[in-house]
Amino acid sequence: MDRFYIDGAWVAPAGTDTIPVEDPTHETIIDHVPAGTAEDVDRAVAAARRAFPAWSAADPAERAAHLDKLHTVLAGQTDAIARTIARELGTPLKVATAVQAGLPLTVLRSYADLAAHPLPEETVGNSTVVREPIGVVGAITPWNYPLHQVVAKLAPALAAGCTVVLKPSEITPLVAYLLFDAIDAAGLPPGVVNLVTGHGPVVGEAIAAHPDVDMVSFTGSTGVGARISHLAADRIARVALELGGKSANVILADADLTKAVKVGVGNAFLNSGQTCTAWTRMLVHRSRYEDAVALAAATAAGYTLGDPFAEGTRLGPLSSQNQKNRVRGYVERGLAEGARLAAGGLDASVPDRGHFVAPTVLADVLPDATVAQEEIFGPVLSIIPFEDDDDAVTIANNSRYGLAGGVWSGDEERALRVARRMRTGQVDINGGRFNPLAPFGGYKSSGLGRELGAHGLHEFLETKAIQR
Ligand code: NAD
Repeated sequence: MDRFYIDGAWVAPAGTDTIPVEDPTHETIIDHVPAGTAEDVDRAVAAARRAFPAWSAADPAERAAHLDKLHTVLAGQTDAIARTIARELGTPLKVATAVQAGLPLTVLRSYADLAAHPLPEETVGNSTVVREPIGVVGAITPWNYPLHQVVAKLAPALAAGCTVVLKPSEITPLVAYLLFDAIDAAGLPPGVVNLVTGHGPVVGEAIAAHPDVDMVSFTGSTGVGARISHLAADRIARVALELGGKSANVILADADLTKAVKVGVGNAFLNSGQTCTAWTRMLVHRSRYEDAVALAAATAAGYTLGDPFAEGTRLGPLSSQNQKNRVRGYVERGLAEGARLAAGGLDASVPDRGHFVAPTVLADVLPDATVAQEEIFGPVLSIIPFEDDDDAVTIANNSRYGLAGGVWSGDEERALRVARRMRTGQVDINGGRFNPLAPFGGYKSSGLGRELGAHGLHEFLETKAIQR
């Protein structure tokens, strides 16, 4: 790849530097993308600014028709999307097809529908309250769900009437090129969406600090989210942040243990554990604790590591050597702080080539241990016992994060009481399935604002009161 998409066309970057893209399974370089500069960002923001008046004033039905067309074109690329992400990230092809390709298509579809039905104007006394698009949006995304995280910003922003400059992750940038080919083929008006690839501290910071970017929507680590907030604060630009997590899966004494543990392990290990909502802390009532540890260890041992394209592979590699080193460091730290190794670990066998870490279960983890507090972003599950429902809530909320969680109980009302006390943006009871229309986002250091559904669209709107 040697181009950016700016003002409705594939264009040459201002500079000549490039970034290699690695296949983490074979540890080979499969492509390069341009390392953008502040000059490229200026050009993209200027195009988005020029496109804003017409796009924001367009009939909502017209914007909906554009999103509908984009959905149709992109849906025809499902297989290519899944294969690209399996290659650049290492997600097993089956999961890549269902989640990495399937979910963003569902989300895009939902915004084609929502765009056609804008919020009705509200009357408050002598005021008419209207909602208007906020302006030019800078979107900065990570590598773990590289198409979904882009679509979860771009689709609602466009539906709301905003224009966008996107910087995808430099680790998995290839799928964004498929998306922008689809945008080109769908005939979105020039400048409405623009793509600049590059390094975070260069292109990301240029977007976050740009005087003509009205809002920055970021998904990634909490540290970078804070940095972006500081940059945006200088001009009081709005910021939406989807950050890290350390979610608790609370298994009460009366739960269906087998189901709770199996689903819980599956959740923690999805995408090799590189999922911000992953239930990485399994909290189990003391009376069922040893059974849960044995079940979790057996379940983890059933996760076959391997090539994402091979039939039967359930876990691929981690995204990079850095990530692998980081995750192994956490396993070492967990054991040093007194955890018991129930499955996996540093000596377990993994493929010779590729950034693999064996699915690992740590038991007897203390609630304040490093592995119970910090986001690991790998296939590492910590199991913690609790005494009663109050204790479970205290341990679950003993975290700087608050993104997701689960509760399991034979009594749904009891589970609901626990769920209501958890300080997180989402909680699933007894495996309640993911709802792509429900608000998604975090409490505390997990973020600011909500994505998906109508709530996600409202993030990109300003509110005006007109008195008469
Ligand atoms: P990251 O924060 O390093 O990078 C995310 C994006 O920010 C990348 O595009 C990167 O180039 C860019 N960036 C890096 N430094 C920057 C800077 N100084 N200024 C502006 N942009 C900069 O995160 P990552 O390693 O790509 O992703 C993993 C992290 O993302 C995990 O912590 C994970 O929990 C979090 N995450 C959160 C969610 C969510 O929805 N809450 C979803 C996925 C990932």
